[in-house]
Amino acid sequence: MSKILIMAGSVILHIPHSSLTIPAAVRSELHITDAELSSELLRMTDWHTNWLFDPGDLQVLRVVFPYSRLVCDVERFPDDASEPMSAKGMGAIYERMSDGKLLRDRMSGEARNSYLERYYYPHHRELQELTERVLVDRQRCMIVDCHSFSSIPLPCDLDQTLKRPDICIGTDPVHTPLALVRQIENACLKLGLSVSVDRPYTGTMIPDNCFGTDKHIESIMIEVRRGLYVDETTGLKLATFESIRKMVHGLLRACHEFHDWQC
Ligand SMILES: [Zn+2]
Repeated sequence: MSKILIMAGSVILHIPHSSLTIPAAVRSELHITDAELSSELLRMTDWHTNWLFDPGDLQVLRVVFPYSRLVCDVERFPDDASEPMSAKGMGAIYERMSDGKLLRDRMSGEARNSYLERYYYPHHRELQELTERVLVDRQRCMIVDCHSFSSIPLPCDLDQTLKRPDICIGTDPVHTPLALVRQIENACLKLGLSVSVDRPYTGTMIPDNCFGTDKHIESIMIEVRRGLYVDETTGLKLATFESIRKMVHGLLRACHEFHDWQC
């Protein structure tokens, strides 16, 4: 394992919201029609981000959540008390859709724990174990949290500002170096992309066991406005997809160079 990781680098692309997969057992628990489900997937899926964040020749590792975020959202804290979006019925297990309508009944106790054990925790364990192995091999690790976002604010969004940037960079006060943020901001501007930091979305993924403590782990979230590369009414790629993919590759390269420069 160690040799494989040395060849594969120490930057991890975390892709949590690209999948459309909903197991039949989960689908049967959702109180919505197929048409409503299609609409909600259109709004909530980070379409094609598993292809958009293309590392090309960069040596990176990838952790991709294999299920839709409607199954569970691995970017949210598992306990509702710690998760601000649980106030909108959108904690780790969504009970509401993005427009506030009922999605599923509240789970509690043993049922909730076994559901999280089935869908949520395996993904976090995978990310955590990979991060730990990279740290053993390289002593440093960078996580790039890869997302896209709707061109118009969703009703559930905390930030309802209509004008949205092309790129949103999400940061963490401990794990995101300011110099890295400046480097990615500059790379965006050189590519002609407008960029905001922690607006309209904030934060970035850090494995639970390292959160706020291990400064050898750097993390940054890069979110791409979907209207740049996808028809948001169908989920189909636009003709611009290839050019945006190349731009995103440029941002990944900038992350990679920053990380290499530090190692
Ligand atoms: Zn996302």
